[in-house]
Amino acid sequence: MSNPASIPTEAANRIKLVIFDVDGVLTEAGIFVGSTMDGEHLELKRFDIQDGVGLKMLIWAGLKVALVTGRPSQATAIRAQELGVECHQVVDARKLPVVKDLIEKHAVDWEEVAMLADDIPDLSVLRRVGLKAAVLNATEPVLDIADWVALRPGGRGAAREFCDALLRARSQLDDVIETYVEERSQP
Ligand SMILES: [Mg+2]
Repeated sequence: MSNPASIPTEAANRIKLVIFDVDGVLTEAGIFVGSTMDGEHLELKRFDIQDGVGLKMLIWAGLKVALVTGRPSQATAIRAQELGVECHQVVDARKLPVVKDLIEKHAVDWEEVAMLADDIPDLSVLRRVGLKAAVLNATEPVLDIADWVALRPGGRGAAREFCDALLRARSQLDDVIETYVEERSQP
């Protein structure tokens, strides 16, 4: 399944920082909530392995990657650590201040930032970035302003689809894959 909608080359080439929301983007729009026998709160999330490879591919292509979530969770911290990406977990979905700090830290402009989003907690940031992307099952206010929409829902390959589309538009996709395979083809 390939998305007929490509990301415009000009917009793709400008991007230096890619922000991913977590719940509903890197996961399905659902969480597993429970507790241990000791009564300790437990929250589990299901992350897609191919999405994870996609995020790594962005890094290999020289892009900065950050997770920004409005729902703090240990599961998210563990996944971010596994992937080696920075992760900002803010309370009450107040994402804009943390993204402003990120932009300053990485010395980029709003036009050089892309975001993959799914719902209204993302809008304060999404409205400002240069490349607005949405998962298939994003809510209407997000879809209304999206420059690009995945054919897959959040947590089911949308992030990988976005990573591939971004790298393809930047003419980096084949190189990233070939470098990866080449490095693993040595005896
Ligand atoms: Mg979300």
